[in-house]
Amino acid sequence: MAKLTKMAMNNKALVLFPLPFQGHINPMLQLANILYTKGFKIIIIHTNFNSPNPSNYPQFTFKSISDGLSTSKDKSLNLDTTNHAINFMNKSCIDPFAVCLAKLLEVEPVACLISDALWHFTQSITDRLKLKRIVLRTSSMSCIPLYAALVLGEKSYYKTTIKEELALMTEMDIEKIYKGGLEKAKAELICNMINETKAASGIIFNTFKELEEPAFLAISQVFQIPSFAIGPFHTYFPVSHSSLIEQDRSSISWLDQQPVHSVVYVSFGSIAQMSESEFTNMAWGLANSKQRFLWVVRPGSVTGSQWLEALPKGFAEEVVERGRIVKWAPQQEVLAHQAIGCFWTHNGWNSTLESICEGVPMICSPCSYDQPINARYVTDVWKIGVMLDNREEAGKIIKRVIMGKEGSEMRHRSKSLQEKVNQSLQKGGSACQSLENLVDSILSF
Ligand code: UDP
Repeated sequence: MAKLTKMAMNNKALVLFPLPFQGHINPMLQLANILYTKGFKIIIIHTNFNSPNPSNYPQFTFKSISDGLSTSKDKSLNLDTTNHAINFMNKSCIDPFAVCLAKLLEVEPVACLISDALWHFTQSITDRLKLKRIVLRTSSMSCIPLYAALVLGEKSYYKTTIKEELALMTEMDIEKIYKGGLEKAKAELICNMINETKAASGIIFNTFKELEEPAFLAISQVFQIPSFAIGPFHTYFPVSHSSLIEQDRSSISWLDQQPVHSVVYVSFGSIAQMSESEFTNMAWGLANSKQRFLWVVRPGSVTGSQWLEALPKGFAEEVVERGRIVKWAPQQEVLAHQAIGCFWTHNGWNSTLESICEGVPMICSPCSYDQPINARYVTDVWKIGVMLDNREEAGKIIKRVIMGKEGSEMRHRSKSLQEKVNQSLQKGGSACQSLENLVDSILSF
């Protein structure tokens, strides 16, 4: 009855604004689906760059805006580096977004804007239009205080909360966070993201409380706004339609023919780049492990190659019986497949969560951004993975995780985290309650 009353009251729309990268589009569209089932009308504003496919979501209204990326004449802007691109779009999208949102408000009652936290420019626009703004932070919850401490030097905030986690971060982790000499662009972005989130009316996380308990305290110290950890979004809707690249479904039929827990799944997400020698070392690591593998090599992810040109000679013959390479996989389904024994990952937050939710142990080779932080949690806090810094050692480590006692212990711990996720999503669980709180909060605007 209470549910029905709540649904009936939801006659206002929510406007959602995803950042145009795969690891941000996926959780925002999953969140859109979750809130749609709570009775809200959903309007998605998106950039022309990396636009989602509206025909996959007939239940939503889509509005596109120009982002200036394709028309940019600013030669100092390096669009290959995501931080620069995001900083750039936070300026180039101001007018198109403001016009689009103001037009919407003329014809539609809107409860609030939900924008990616990295779209920091949107706070001043909603202030001007007297609309509430909630942010979606697509990284882990722990990442914000650690970023603030490491990148902005605001260590004093966190003395009592994430001190132990902070101490785990190594010089190499910090170096990777800054990879590519992006100190200035990254610090500017993180600083703006944190400041404009402080002015928002709430912050939503793609996580669950039991996974990151200490971060909860730190987050409320930093932001002093309501935070909602509503659980891993993909668990509400397991199959995603927000892929920007076509998923190769032959991965699943191939996995169907492999023994239980025998395959290492290898994927480094949608942005990571690697050099030819890193790629070659990975290939030999997989060959030397003598294990079965499903390897996602995204076209363009190896510097100087279109796809597989840099594969070492003899590799294909060596692994023909036990290896498969695809351009892009249905990752959530792959990780849920019983044939998967471990996940060699770059530890993007979505990949990390997807692995946790399926109880799959990880081999961690973080590249940059928040990945070194996620990997440190996986290996040193949750103890469900091992770090692999030197890719030449991949063969040994894969064997250890797939076949050794250490691997089965990690799988065991990972399975118990998977159970915690499931409990938190059930009625009375923390994620389920947090989602109710979020809906109540939106209805109170
Ligand atoms: N993904 C996928 N197929 C692949 C590789 C990745 O569908 O072959 C999805 C994956 O399930 C995840 C997203 O792409 O939801 C990658 O996000 P993540 O945060 O892990 O990494 P990013 O791409 O942001 O570095």
